[in-house]
Formats: sequence, C-alpha cells, structure tokens
Amino acid sequence: MRPVSGKNDSGVKFKALSELSNGVYIHIPFCIKKCLYCDFLSVPYNDLLARAYTDALCKELILKKDIAGQLKTVYIGGGTPSILSEECFRQLFKCLKENFKFSDSPEITVEANPGTVDKSKIDTMLSLGVNRLSIGVQSFNDNELKTLGRIHTSDEALKAIETIKDSGINNFSIDLIYGIQGQTLDSWKKTISKVFELSPAHISSYELTLEEGTPLYKMIKSEETNPSSPPFAKGGMGGFLANIKMPAEELILDMYNYAIEHLTSKGYEHYEISNFALHGFRCLHNLNYWSRGEYIGAGAGAHSFIRGSRSKNTDDIRRYIKDLNKGIIPEAESVEIKCGEAIKEFIFLNLRKTEGISLAKAEALGLDMPGVCMGLIEEGYLEIKGDYLRLSRKGLVISNSVIVRLFEGLGLD
Ligand code: SF4
Repeated sequence: MRPVSGKNDSGVKFKALSELSNGVYIHIPFCIKKCLYCDFLSVPYNDLLARAYTDALCKELILKKDIAGQLKTVYIGGGTPSILSEECFRQLFKCLKENFKFSDSPEITVEANPGTVDKSKIDTMLSLGVNRLSIGVQSFNDNELKTLGRIHTSDEALKAIETIKDSGINNFSIDLIYGIQGQTLDSWKKTISKVFELSPAHISSYELTLEEGTPLYKMIKSEETNPSSPPFAKGGMGGFLANIKMPAEELILDMYNYAIEHLTSKGYEHYEISNFALHGFRCLHNLNYWSRGEYIGAGAGAHSFIRGSRSKNTDDIRRYIKDLNKGIIPEAESVEIKCGEAIKEFIFLNLRKTEGISLAKAEALGLDMPGVCMGLIEEGYLEIKGDYLRLSRKGLVISNSVIVRLFEGLGLD
C-alpha cells in the first residue's frame, strides 16, 4: 500500500460540521445489579437518585436544545433505562416534546432488560412515542446468563418478549453475546434458533470482551494464574463457574460465522459488523454514529459529537446533578477532532457498515482508497462493489487488523 500522495491535514477537507444535530442519546446509569462483565457506567437503582437525575437530564436537554435540529432519532440507553419509573419517563418525554422538534417519523428507542418491564410500563412508553425497544437478552442458556451475572433467566427473557409483542410492538431488537466462558457452538446455535422463533426485527450480536477491572476479568485471570483455586466458589456462585476459560479463538470465529450464515439465510440483512435487521428495520440512530454523523448526548458519562468536537460528560452522577442544578453542563472533556483523526474515524466507522465506504465521499476528501487499498484487495480482505469499498467476508472476521493496515497505508498510524 502507498500513503495518500501529496495530502496532509490541510489537504483533506472535512465539511465544517456546523449543521444542527438530528440525534439525541440519553444515558440512564441505573441497573438492578451490576453484571459480572460490565464496564458501562451504571450504579444500583435508587428511586430518589433517579428522580434527581431525571430532573438534571431535563436541565441538560434544555441547555442543549438550540444545537438540535429536527430530531430523527432519540436513543435512551444505559444502564437499564427500563428501570426508570413511569413518572420519570413521562417527565423526560414532556421535556423532549416541549423543547425539541421532531421529524415526521422519528425512531425512538429505549433499552430494556428482562425483569424490569411489565405491560403497564410498556404501555406508558408507547403512549409517550417510544416505537423501538432493544432488549438485553444476551443468551437463552441459563448457565451462560449466570456466568455473565445477568439478573434474569432464559424464561424471564421469553416472558418479557411475549409482553412486548402482546403490546403490539414489532420493532424490537434482541441483544446477544457470544464467546462466553463455557459456551459451546451447540448452545450458541440453540440461542440463535430461539431468537429466530421470536421474530425480532433486529438482532445485535457482540463478542464478549473481558474488560479489565470487571469481576469476570478478575475471575478469569485468577483461574489462569492459579487453576486449582476455586475463584467462583466465593461470592455466592456456589462453584458454578469453577474451571472455565475463555473460549478458543477458532470457536469464537465459528460462532460469529454461524450467526452471519444462519441469520442471513433467514432473511436478516447483515448491515454492520455485529448487527442484523429485517428489511426496513436497521437502527437509524446507530447508523448515524457509523456514518460519522453528529449527535447530542445527555446524561452522566454521555458522549456528544457536535460541530466537529467530541465531548464527554462527567461519570460522577452526583457531580452531574450538582452541576446542572447550578446551570452548568458537566462536561469532563472535549476534543476538537483534527483532520487526520477525522479521516481515521471516517474510515473505521464507515467500514463497520457492511455497505462500506463511499468511494465518491472518500474522493471528495482527497482519499484515493482503491489505490491505497490495492494490497488488501488483492489479498481478499477488502472488495469494491459499485461505489463502495467494503470488508470482504474474510476481512470482516479480522476487521481490526485490516483497519490498522489501512491506516498504515494512509500514513495515519
Ligand atoms: S444490565 Fe447492562 S449496563 Fe447494567 S450492569 Fe448489566 S451489562 Fe451493565
């Protein structure tokens, strides 16, 4: 590969990102109990804190309303947003409706976990305009759910989905995790087949990553360094998790490939590395991220991408509330994305989509992608289809390494 000839930071033009944002992300940092693998910002639910937090969220949304255009997507994620009381949901949506303009048919998603949704809450959400639910099922195998430290069983997940379907919601997504310690290809196949029976409009399937500092990470590391010790016998796991290891890399690849083959054969479009949707049900909010679109984030730890700068709110929930009570946006950091970084983002975000990178858009930025990618195309990791450069099936499974090589070729490492 050769570097981009004659181009440097000043030679590559990104449009001045001064348009108004059409997407809002709202973070709800509460859960019933922390899952063993989780490194997201979440704390145990507390009703008083959740009320104060909702007040603060509304204040932040009002402070940011002028940088929003007509909202096409609202995504309430967490944490476990469905843990919020109906009263808090009403307050939040009242604030959104009074202060923001919405496009004709906005996508409004709420993340929900089994064990925290019932008919009444779903009806309230629907009455407020929520039209998409994303359900954190993760697995339909109870042993795997215990390994992950999820609060629900497979039956409880099924019940939650039945309630959602009975309420008339067909636009729901099921989140899955593969590569769980102790998971076999057979149990993954059973989970996928159960998911298919439930006919979700959308499926997200992510490989489990062992995040440093999580209880699961500590357990696995302790097992690796001292396999005879019973690390999982402590903490009420009753030895259930003893002597399990991370699945082998080949097994994880087999699981990923199985999901792609099985779900696409059943009519799901594989539209992003880890996401599948029936026709017309792609997640518009996430597609905006992968297209490097701007968005407003609200809530503790929430990220925003506004006018070419990426910023993040404080992770400290109490400081978040305190600052907003004083009328201050509790930003912890803000970075203006320079051109080299913007090109990297443009490439790795767009390559996440199976459609790939628009060659016309790349060319407008001064990037000669076919020239730069020749080696990776010849090796079969990238391919060109029409106006798009995309990861081939062979490249998809090692997307990170392909992207690193692409950056090297562009002189962006
Ligand atoms: S439900 Fe999600 S956010 Fe909450 S602890 Fe579990 S993984 Fe973390």
